[in-house]
Amino acid sequence: MDRYRVKQKSKINLKDHDPDDQSFFDAGKEAGRIHLKELNIDLMSLQNVLYAEHKHKILIVLQGMDTSGKDGTIKHVFLGVNPQGVRIANFKVPTSIELDHDYLWRVHHQVPGKGEITIFNRSHYEDLLVVRVHALVAKEIWSKRFSQINDFERLLSEEGTTVLKFFLHIDQDEQKKRLQARLDDPDKRWKFRKGDLEERKLWAQYILAYEDVLSKTSTPYAPWYIIPSNRKWYRNLVIGTILIDTLKKLEMRYPTPEDDLSGITIT
Ligand code: ADP
Repeated sequence: MDRYRVKQKSKINLKDHDPDDQSFFDAGKEAGRIHLKELNIDLMSLQNVLYAEHKHKILIVLQGMDTSGKDGTIKHVFLGVNPQGVRIANFKVPTSIELDHDYLWRVHHQVPGKGEITIFNRSHYEDLLVVRVHALVAKEIWSKRFSQINDFERLLSEEGTTVLKFFLHIDQDEQKKRLQARLDDPDKRWKFRKGDLEERKLWAQYILAYEDVLSKTSTPYAPWYIIPSNRKWYRNLVIGTILIDTLKKLEMRYPTPEDDLSGITIT
């Protein structure tokens, strides 16, 4: 899965990354869906041990343009996991109290505890994306955030958190199709916001902001992965595989019972 990992300090140009790529799994959509079911089962058992062992903390960051599939990824990749050990943190427009504090204040208390997987649906990276594109703070403020975020994530990592960051890469045509589907499909219409059309006009600025984020904040302890996401099934498969590979490397174990339990009879 290294093919999608952003190497530290590489200069990212998203034009070089094909959102339609299928090079990791070329057996097609139906086979991909079947394989995802197997990954779902693997994830269920790995998460069980993670929760029981109560040692590791897993932070998953999901970022991407509007309609890139953050919600769908959560729904499909995490299908069947025990909700007891998994939490979603959504980062929306900050409240006035949040704005009274530094931008990491609302983020830090949402990070995972031991035994927990926390998924950030949007994240502190919004403070280098929407905030930059809309000039919500001055450049001299946001430009310091790359290194601040690297330091923050290094702290999390040194304190035992495994951090994985996924950029869901779609192109502008795919966004058009997905926005149109939101208009046309009564079950999706609730997701359509006129504001999304305004944001769509800023596509090029967002791409530049993302390229900067990906170039400057992918580190060995908190790597970015650029996930080809025009095909939803492929996106799910790649993210599921990276997650499972990462969890397997932690070599987690169920805790051993305190005493010798052999010979106990329950009456
Ligand atoms: P989503 O699009 O994630 O499903 P919403 O439609 O509620 O959910 O959008 C959340 C909005 O909050 C997005 O437009 C996002 O850019 C915005 N947002 C998130 N974090 C910040 C931030 N730090 N400053 C300004 N806006 C933010």
